[in-house]
Amino acid sequence: FVVHLVASFFSKLQEDPTKKVDRFLYAMHLHDDQLSDIAARFQAELKKGLSVESNAAAAVKMLPTHVRSTPDGSEKGQFLALDLGGSRFKVLQVKVREGMGMRRGGVELVEKTYPVPKELHIGRGTELFDHVSESLKDFIHEKNISLEKKQPLAFTFSFPCEQATLNQGLLLNWSKNFRARGLQGKDVVQALRGAINKTGGMDVEVLAMVNDTVATMMTCGFDDQYCEVGLIIGTGTNACYMEELRNVDLVEGDEGRMCVNTEWGAFGDDGALKDYITEFDRDVDAASNNPGKQILEKMVSGMYLGELVRLVVLKMAKLGLLFEGHVSDALRTKGTITTEHVAAMEEYKNGLNNTRNLLVDLDLSPTPDDCVAVQHVSTIVSFRSSNLVAAGLAAILTRIKQNRNLRTLRISVGVDGTVYKMHPQYPKRLQKVVRRLLPECHVRFVLSDSGSSKGAALVSAVAQRLALRRRQ
Ligand code: BGC
Ligand code: MG
Repeated sequence: FVVHLVASFFSKLQEDPTKKVDRFLYAMHLHDDQLSDIAARFQAELKKGLSVESNAAAAVKMLPTHVRSTPDGSEKGQFLALDLGGSRFKVLQVKVREGMGMRRGGVELVEKTYPVPKELHIGRGTELFDHVSESLKDFIHEKNISLEKKQPLAFTFSFPCEQATLNQGLLLNWSKNFRARGLQGKDVVQALRGAINKTGGMDVEVLAMVNDTVATMMTCGFDDQYCEVGLIIGTGTNACYMEELRNVDLVEGDEGRMCVNTEWGAFGDDGALKDYITEFDRDVDAASNNPGKQILEKMVSGMYLGELVRLVVLKMAKLGLLFEGHVSDALRTKGTITTEHVAAMEEYKNGLNNTRNLLVDLDLSPTPDDCVAVQHVSTIVSFRSSNLVAAGLAAILTRIKQNRNLRTLRISVGVDGTVYKMHPQYPKRLQKVVRRLLPECHVRFVLSDSGSSKGAALVSAVAQRLALRRRQ
């Protein structure tokens, strides 16, 4: 007993390894007052992007999508769909059945993933689209899709596009791991049509091009009339929501609403986050495809979380705060810690096993305290991500509430993306912080599985329904 007492006395003298991490990453802890400050800056950016005078200079582009209503359940039809720009490129056949809702099998999906070789991400844009259309052709053959009549096609394209109509869109810039040449400023739907004609043997009509956030909102909206926000936390991050048309200066008309693709990943590109940026964020940005661009995205999304953790761990090791100052080549190499690793480390029910395995794979010899510390680094980095997303959502939801002159707001948010789906703690944390920041909003988060794929077809179905109504 005495031995036990003495041992516990000495272990208390030894510092809890999470404490040194907390001190080291002080700037990544965002308290609620800081989050409210960020939400206020966010709200100012939303306004700036919507107004015709300030839009050109705005970092957050607030792109009109020409989607004017969420589904009402009466949509139907059969569509081909393409989903490009997420973690995987998919070709799909989507069947929408009237009045059934998502859960009761109202939307049926046949899908196939086609790998996109890395060279195509950074090669010529025409080659990328040739690959897309050849994959489509392969899919049509493999699934025996009839070409007796023209097949309507819906396109989810997860990059910022300026759209004058639903089936047109100029690519403003690439993001994430894409930077194919010759497409910027061009109509992406036209490029797709061109490629489809060149491949030949297909009779398809591109009805709609939508951002993945919009597709996600529409998918969730098929079941839930309160769903008026779409959110992606995956390779990249972004959100869309239903705005009053009178506030959308770039589109004529004052009646009703239109979905706005915020492109919030670019929040901070004009310095709005400068008080919150750390040296690690600066390093990630400097080593990226698009320095100076997508600043919020680089603090939040799956493409960068692992790299942030790696840079922190590397710096701590160099300072002698981890691994007795030992650094391995693997730890020095960009990309050796991924978001999947971050998610695995925070699988708390596995204790420190996943963290230890990762560090050993990186040729390090961690002590138990090192493992505790690195796991904690991971937690701080991914917690900051969900906190920043919560601040952005708070800005959007507050705006919707003010638009509608409501004291309380009931709303659903459709969410898709690998980080949200794979990280064991992420959804819980995000929801908790949003509810804390906005006690007067009743927010429901709906995981919209394959939302970014299904939703483009739903947009097309809604467009067909509205066109039919106009003709009647
Ligand atoms: C793109 C957005 C997209 C988001 C999520 C960002 O990099 O700019 O258009 O919605 O990633 O995929
Ligand atoms: Mg208007």
